[in-house]
Amino acid sequence: MTSQTRNTPSSDQIRRAPKVLLHDHLDGGLRPGTIVDLARDAGYAGLPEADPDKLGVWFREAADSGSLERYLETFAHTCAVMQTREALVRVAAECAEDLAEDGVVYAEVRYAPEQHLEAGLTLEEVVEAVNEGFREGERRARENGHRIRVGALLTAMRHAARALEIAELANRYRDLSGGGVVGFDIAGAEAGFPPTRHLDAFEYLKRENNHFTIHAGEAFGLPSIWQALQWCGADRLGHGVRIIDDIHVGEDGTVKLGRLAAYVRDKRVPLELCPSSNLQTGAADSYAGHPIGLLRRLHFRATVNTDNRLMSGTSMSREFEHLVDAFGYSLDDMQWFTVNAMKSAFIPFDERLAMINDVIKPGYAELKSEWLFQQTASTSGSASSRD
Ligand SMILES: [Zn+2]
Repeated sequence: MTSQTRNTPSSDQIRRAPKVLLHDHLDGGLRPGTIVDLARDAGYAGLPEADPDKLGVWFREAADSGSLERYLETFAHTCAVMQTREALVRVAAECAEDLAEDGVVYAEVRYAPEQHLEAGLTLEEVVEAVNEGFREGERRARENGHRIRVGALLTAMRHAARALEIAELANRYRDLSGGGVVGFDIAGAEAGFPPTRHLDAFEYLKRENNHFTIHAGEAFGLPSIWQALQWCGADRLGHGVRIIDDIHVGEDGTVKLGRLAAYVRDKRVPLELCPSSNLQTGAADSYAGHPIGLLRRLHFRATVNTDNRLMSGTSMSREFEHLVDAFGYSLDDMQWFTVNAMKSAFIPFDERLAMINDVIKPGYAELKSEWLFQQTASTSGSASSRD
């Protein structure tokens, strides 16, 4: 089949298609202009550039540099300007607005409350400010004709010792009407900080029937994935891309899954894949060479995510554009990834089902019918020109 007959979406269709995002960091998605404003308000003099456009470029280049020090420096700047209630409300509101503008209909956005206490906020005040911002952003998006729902994931840092406290915080804020905290996550350097350091937090969340994902299998590989699933009981894998190390493709194309990869596929463990981010950290060397192609073919529960929109200069639409270019994906493929993500969200089952049936499927059906009519129009156009 040619790409034409496989309903390859245009950039405009990719942007308009309903998308679902499970892995996005609040402190990795600020607008450069907002960072400049907030730095001025806070009297923060550490920014490497004062001009928003140059600052945006600086963030992407620092993340591209291959230097872990420079990569971590990017988050030092964004966290430095997210220390007051007003700053957190603004950043969260703009996050929801930007995602909605990009056609995201449901998002789970994560952040580490412990990184926003430097100016005297309590953990509770941080969570309440971010929730307020997400509600405000949803409201503004609605006014602009977009519908989005945003849930928060509270992250604990792997190298710190506050995981249980943050897990308890996530549990306290989980049942807010109109949206709140939908789950928990562990992030930070994998090497030397195995997720099993935080078993008390995971056991607590399991006893509370709560949900969590763990950053695992980004840089560190199979042992990290195995621990996250079999020792900690993660519901999803943040990245999980190194599961590819347990999949063996023979010269004749036959595929053999190791026991861990088979477990991940059999149990439908969601993989929060972040292609552009993986290219920057060296976990993959090109879009076409990214494991997502094979994982999609083998029907793993693969999802597409942004990770850090500012540092990667990306959006959900851009991630899909790269994948459409690299793999020739169609609207059906996009819908498959999107439904996978919605099925794997941490909100209740009936609400996920309603999003799939009432928002996602009708959205793709409309785009596909648009494509069909375009095909018909171009066929009849060429027929009449021959007459
Ligand atoms: Zn991440």
